[in-house]
Amino acid sequence: MSQGFPRPELIGIPYDADSSFLRGPAEAPPLIRAQLRSPHWNSGTELVPDTADLPDAGDLPLAGKHDARREIEAAIERILEREHGPLSLGGDHSITYPIIRALSRRYSPLSILQLDAHPDLYEEFERNRFSHACPFARIMEEGRADRLVQVGIRTMNPPQRSQAERYGVEVIDMRSWLAGVRPTVSGWVYLSVDLDVIEPALAPGVSHREPGGLSVREVISVVHSLGGTLAGADLVEYNPRCDMGGITAGVAAKIVKEIAGRMLA
Ligand code: MN
Ligand code: MN
Repeated sequence: MSQGFPRPELIGIPYDADSSFLRGPAEAPPLIRAQLRSPHWNSGTELVPDTADLPDAGDLPLAGKHDARREIEAAIERILEREHGPLSLGGDHSITYPIIRALSRRYSPLSILQLDAHPDLYEEFERNRFSHACPFARIMEEGRADRLVQVGIRTMNPPQRSQAERYGVEVIDMRSWLAGVRPTVSGWVYLSVDLDVIEPALAPGVSHREPGGLSVREVISVVHSLGGTLAGADLVEYNPRCDMGGITAGVAAKIVKEIAGRMLA
């Protein structure tokens, strides 16, 4: 098992072939990077003064590859071999499954904290077991995580409820959040942020807008206060084709910076 605190290493994963409704998240990584490096702000975060020197693996070339999941898993493995923690820029949420396959071989026990409007627990969706609606079913059925804690859920339905019960998923839906329930995680933690967890009026650039979400500030507060040691994180589902004036790209970059700050602090 790895010891110490892995430094974050950026990697763009331009992949949206397993999206169920719209394409677009494959175009996100360079736009989030442009925001990260924009002169409209500096590279500091609220926890550390500078993130300008973050290691960066660049964007993973996936075009024309037969097995994108295998490519993603191998790329994450290379980051782990450098003793870094992958900080992935999606891409749709299907990328979290191959990321966790690589991570779970190194970090055990592993807890996953998922911020999302959706549980993403379908056994299959539109006859695709690797849909962005299914990654956490694949992760849990393979025993790749010891705990899965979901925050911000507001689309639970009977098939996913039974999956959540089957795999012991701890679901903090929006009603529970408003009642004051907060996630508690410890040990090695992986953070997966689906941007649609945020109120879409604040982050409209997502494929599945689900009103009634968290504020940007609430997401940052979860990042800052989460327990345990971050082994890695992803930010997924930014869809530039649905954005308005780059608002969501800026939100995405802010959250990525604060995650990097949390890993470095
Ligand atoms: Mn999701
Ligand atoms: Mn979602």
